[in-house]
Amino acid sequence: MSRVLIIGAGGVGQVVTHKCAQLPAVFSDITLASRTESRCKAIAAQLQRPIRTAQVDADRVPELVALIREVRPELVINVALPYQDLSIMDACLETGVHYLDTANYEPPDVARFEYKWQWAYQDRFEKAGLMALLGCGFDPGATNGFTAYAARHYFDEIHTLDIIDVNGGDHGYPFATNFNPEINIREVTAECRHWENGEFVTTPAMSLKQSFTCPDDVGTYNIYRLYHEELESLSRHFPSLNKAQFWMSFGDSYLRHLEVLGNVGMTGIEPVVFNGTEIIPIQFLKQLLPDPSTLGARTVGRTCIGCYVTGIKDGQPNSVFVYNIKDHQDCYREVQSQAISYTTGVPAMIGAKLMLEGQWMKPGVWNVEQLDPDPFLADMNRYGLPFQVIENPDFKLV
Ligand code: NDP
Repeated sequence: MSRVLIIGAGGVGQVVTHKCAQLPAVFSDITLASRTESRCKAIAAQLQRPIRTAQVDADRVPELVALIREVRPELVINVALPYQDLSIMDACLETGVHYLDTANYEPPDVARFEYKWQWAYQDRFEKAGLMALLGCGFDPGATNGFTAYAARHYFDEIHTLDIIDVNGGDHGYPFATNFNPEINIREVTAECRHWENGEFVTTPAMSLKQSFTCPDDVGTYNIYRLYHEELESLSRHFPSLNKAQFWMSFGDSYLRHLEVLGNVGMTGIEPVVFNGTEIIPIQFLKQLLPDPSTLGARTVGRTCIGCYVTGIKDGQPNSVFVYNIKDHQDCYREVQSQAISYTTGVPAMIGAKLMLEGQWMKPGVWNVEQLDPDPFLADMNRYGLPFQVIENPDFKLV
């Protein structure tokens, strides 16, 4: 029986709140806080059981500390934006509360995803006897768990990793993003880095693509190589990896719009002066785009996200694809949300559950692959994200 504070009432926050509310034996008391409390109340109104809501600006540590002292949670689940990671970690340290998030810290003025800022909290969390679990969504999160699971059960040593994220869903808009538009566009337009022979190799954004046919008739999609934050932790925690890459599918309409918006400067993160007021183009663009939390009702199709791992088992080459397929409309029926928010929010709830039940609880700052993958994947099967494994799939990836 535990009290949790969820911060961030967006698309992912909605799913985490629903999923925690479904497990009163673990999450006995839930408070949902965000910058705009009306969004928390709208989510609360969807639930079968009462939760508390609150207003907080999570950029401000004193406000967070005051809220945490009032709510007295055991754990803060941070599903606000990556910009708030450090302030929420600081507040957790000050109040003696455990921490979980789904995306690594990103400074607002530089589009650079790195764990170094959060890994630097290792000693402070460990000394305080507190745990911080980083990146416990789907990718990162489930993909880290899939890699650890594959390494434990199918290999003596893993050599290559291709994380493949296909969204075969269609929301009917010419251009919309499935999670926070600002974070999504910063991620996609950043230069690509992949791990190869002991170092990160940099290539231009979206400069390598290939075709990928998903299992179970999800379809064939163009997937593009891009940098994703779990490459940093996985290459560090699995030093036998010679190569690690991340691939994501994009439709032609999305790419065409993104190119034009980039060409005219609408995806920029530097302030520009308009009518005497400073605006940041990408933040203005976010205001114009559909809110990802409203896409659920109109999104049809399935996601297929998994890890293709190769390596050696008993002296012989081996390969596996560990993956999950999720139907957007199934998610909508369950939690009024599309599958991108769902696939992020469910692992966050499971990570919180495993921490609070003690199975994953240990002081320090951890990435998902450093923890036992078996209860995590077992809970993915139980709570809406069943995984499957194909041994020696017929994939021919570059
Ligand atoms: P949304 O933009 O839908 O929601 C973000 C929420 O955070 C909003 O409700 C917003 O509040 C709130 N928020 C923003 N700034 C503050 C602040 N200063 N104080 C308090 N609340 C704040 O984003 P998503 O739900 O799509 O994404 C949430 C997180 O999940 C992001 O960090 C994203 O990167 C991560 N993510 C991780 C994935 C994974 O697989 N690991 C996949 C997808 C997303 P308000 O509405 O009041 O402005």
